[in-house]
Amino acid sequence: MALDIRKIRDDFPTLTREIHPGIPLVYLDSTATSHKPEAVLAAMDGYYRRSNANIHRGVHTLAEEATALYEQARESIAGFINAPAARQVIYTRNTTESINLVAYSWGRTNLQSGDLVIATEMEHHSNLVPWHMLAAERGIRLEFIPVTEDGLLDLNEYRKLLTLGPKLVAFTHMSNVLGTINPAKEIIRLAHEAGALTLLDGAQSVPHFAVDVQDLDVDFLAFSAHKMVGPTGIGALYGKKSLLDGMPPFMGGGDMIKTVHLRSFTANTIPYKFEAGTPAIAEAVGFGAAIEYLTAIGMDAIAAHEHAITEYALERLEEIPGLRVFGPSADKKGGVAAFVLDGIHPHDVAQILDRDGIAVRAGHHCAQPLHEKFKIPATSRASFYLYSTTAEVDKLVEGIYKVKKYFS
Ligand code: PLP
Repeated sequence: MALDIRKIRDDFPTLTREIHPGIPLVYLDSTATSHKPEAVLAAMDGYYRRSNANIHRGVHTLAEEATALYEQARESIAGFINAPAARQVIYTRNTTESINLVAYSWGRTNLQSGDLVIATEMEHHSNLVPWHMLAAERGIRLEFIPVTEDGLLDLNEYRKLLTLGPKLVAFTHMSNVLGTINPAKEIIRLAHEAGALTLLDGAQSVPHFAVDVQDLDVDFLAFSAHKMVGPTGIGALYGKKSLLDGMPPFMGGGDMIKTVHLRSFTANTIPYKFEAGTPAIAEAVGFGAAIEYLTAIGMDAIAAHEHAITEYALERLEEIPGLRVFGPSADKKGGVAAFVLDGIHPHDVAQILDRDGIAVRAGHHCAQPLHEKFKIPATSRASFYLYSTTAEVDKLVEGIYKVKKYFS
């Protein structure tokens, strides 16, 4: 069913803003972070106004309420990705911390010098640098599935890399630059056949289409609330139970322990083992509200809307002389259009568009190796979400023509 965009846009207070007098916001930067609906703001505000207390440590009413809200949100998140149990969802700060948790805890326990980790050439830095750090510290080896000229993963090369006996295949579900939606189920199946575990960076997939961890049979999944209409400061790591049970804690402190003595401690069970100290409680409540908001609208409807906007945007952008969009055709990608304009620096494009209230991002989008691959220092990137409209795409196109005129 088509989305009721007018109604959806009314839910997001920032979308009613004027960026300059009389110039409304055209927000095309949801890949960086999404806006937040009233329901999320109200849930967080309500938590602080009514139920504010520290969790897990009190028997008083507020502590119990806060704990219940925090754990209900975990249940919602688990349901959203079809995790077998809520305790397999660990709260982290964001996708970056989730991946670092795996690298630090699973990686430092299971990877030795010479062991191979496979990633791809389209990774965000957050799924590269943790492995670089392990390479420097432990001497693990890294190999990368190449990206083809049209922005797809070269699966033949992947099959060859698998013959080298990797321990882990860590890859992005959807590129934050090319928009490519990678065939995660197939990549995971092939990794498992080769005896490797898998880590899926879901920063750009979980917010935009239904992701089912059991169907994918993925070992670890990382994602961030702020990219899926939730607050900043909270994300999640899903892991298979046997793996999480076998991993040592990531950080030490309160809540992650069962017992502590002066010279020893015993670790708590999952998920608490990985949640040291007072967590982001209000943010967890907001994360839960975000999940409920997206679920009520329906992930399939959201994906269909974004697909239609992306198709329209690619069509319109490709009409513009001297403009090149990176990545595959609309049927293989999500709502991202990263582009360059002949002879005009992407930062200038973004700056001039901002005069018309149009928010796009410019730079390497934390995917510098991918830009190096395409021999460009930067791109301008427009990205779409459930509240994006074709009228906003039209404004972007108009704005780009103005940029071209300015530089002609
Ligand atoms: N992975 C991908 C594909 C991303 O697009 C991003 C953020 O843009 C991240 C990881 C990192 O997310 P966060 O900054 O929320 O940790």
